[in-house]
Amino acid sequence: MGAPPQLTPEERARALAKAKQSRLVRAGIKSRVKSGELSITDVLELAKSDEAVAKMRVLELVESIAGVGKIRAKVLLEKLEISLTRRLQGLGSRQAKALAQEFISPSPLTRGKLIVLSGPGGVGKSTVAHELRRSSPFHVSVSATTRSPRFNEREGVDYHFLSDEEFDRCIKEDEFLEWAAFAGNRYGTPRKAVEDALRSGKSVLLEIEISGAKQVKAKVPDALLVFLEPPTWEELVSRLEGRGTDSPERRAARLALAQEEMAQAPFFDKVLINQQVEQVAATLIEWASAN
Ligand code: 5GP
Repeated sequence: MGAPPQLTPEERARALAKAKQSRLVRAGIKSRVKSGELSITDVLELAKSDEAVAKMRVLELVESIAGVGKIRAKVLLEKLEISLTRRLQGLGSRQAKALAQEFISPSPLTRGKLIVLSGPGGVGKSTVAHELRRSSPFHVSVSATTRSPRFNEREGVDYHFLSDEEFDRCIKEDEFLEWAAFAGNRYGTPRKAVEDALRSGKSVLLEIEISGAKQVKAKVPDALLVFLEPPTWEELVSRLEGRGTDSPERRAARLALAQEEMAQAPFFDKVLINQQVEQVAATLIEWASAN
């Protein structure tokens, strides 16, 4: 490659102004995509006549779609075999078509599916749910429980912490979609928040133990049930034993229960191994959107 051309100060100023203008055009496009005003097909069309749009990276465009985080955008491009550095102008017609197809409205992610993430206690469901709260378009349900808050938990964020009497009242008033007793406490999914989110077109994720997952399937047969497994049994044991927040009796009870829980995987629609949290979350989002 030869040396870059020597620019006069005027040429340099013009080039900088053009680059700035292009960035503004791309930022405008991205915010219109985010608001739903422009579809992927619209942007691909614009790229044919606008140089600034043509130079936008595909990854940047996909990331700007509402509800699609960085991880899902990357997974999607890998699935479509589009390089992460590819610009719109470099897309082949087959790739452009496949990309537009992924986002034909209404997006499969916005049809209001009920997704249940379950698996043995200690496997890391709540960490995956946390990641999904951050990176997915799902409404992640906040459960009610009679258990006391752990030092790092907040009311209304991690759980709604209820007294036994309050929990009894919710059962009596049919306010739970499902509820179960687990390791000496009770846990339940508040029905209204779930139904409101589904009605508004949002998919909802419940992170609950196995008997609750089975209740949901009985009530909502098209719910998607995901079972999270540890990479190995030893890993689960060490996670449960290392949990400083539980008493020794509670850990022992949880270990015994986990053994029974591990046998329940065949009842689920999909089994995911919790090797890496972000990857599990991305795979779950992809799988849910395809089902
Ligand atoms: P932890 O006490 O560790 O937060 O939760 C104990 C177990 O209760 C976990 O397996 C968790 O998934 C489950 N759980 C949390 N919320 C609910 C719920 O609303 N319903 C049911 N059935 N289980 C729940």
